[in-house]
Amino acid sequence: MFVDSHCHLSSPELIDRVPEIRAAMAQAKVDRALCICTTLDEFPRVHALATEYDNFWCSTGVHPDEEDSREPSVEELLGLAALPKVVAIGETGLDYFRLNGRTPAEMEWQRERFRVHIRAARASGLPLVIHTREASADTLALLREEEGGQAGGVFHCFTETADVARAALDLGFHVSFSGILTFKKAEDLRAVAAFVPLDRCLIETDSPYLAPTPFRGKVNTPANVPWVARQLAEIKGLPVEEIASVTSANFERLFNRTMFHEAQV
Ligand SMILES: [Zn+2]
Ligand SMILES: [Zn+2]
Repeated sequence: MFVDSHCHLSSPELIDRVPEIRAAMAQAKVDRALCICTTLDEFPRVHALATEYDNFWCSTGVHPDEEDSREPSVEELLGLAALPKVVAIGETGLDYFRLNGRTPAEMEWQRERFRVHIRAARASGLPLVIHTREASADTLALLREEEGGQAGGVFHCFTETADVARAALDLGFHVSFSGILTFKKAEDLRAVAAFVPLDRCLIETDSPYLAPTPFRGKVNTPANVPWVARQLAEIKGLPVEEIASVTSANFERLFNRTMFHEAQV
């Protein structure tokens, strides 16, 4: 059984297809998924998925790319984090890919938002789901300054270097690989995946984006996460069954959630 540790099922591409997607997941032996929140406005839809289905959970947070979105306070995030089936803070982090003519120095609003999420994660005891793009040095610096390692979490959809992976692991974080791992030109990333210890690896789809080979360019769903696992199995020289069981155990340990875990803290 496989776990998709990061998907956007409340996205417009997927929200109306949930029953069909769940059937495909069952067929593909994908038994759990973490539904990721990107804005406070989206949160009720993400949370509804998690409360409606036993094997879905959700996060709460505001994505660094959502510039015009309402800013959360630590208190507001803590309130949402206390709701049933909310198991992570994020996705949060830094993204300097779309600067729109600005310099990273002018992205203080993003760094401040990230600090708020780290503080909420520490105060709630929930792990962080971290998004970092062209901003790894600042992402790591802020995590150190705010002692984000105390919350722990995952660097999702990892595309950084082995040095960044080493730094994330040293801070106590997990590293999650997406369909990018299957892309033809991703040799460097496959080398990073070879380096990250399996007991700190997660797998994800980041649906509806980043469909793995052979579905590249199509709408992605959690049912495709076994393709990431198969690629990781090839890299590690292990049977895919072992990749499935270890990454699932890692998910349970990190988010403290097994399939039909009903008790909520
Ligand atoms: Zn992301
Ligand atoms: Zn995402």
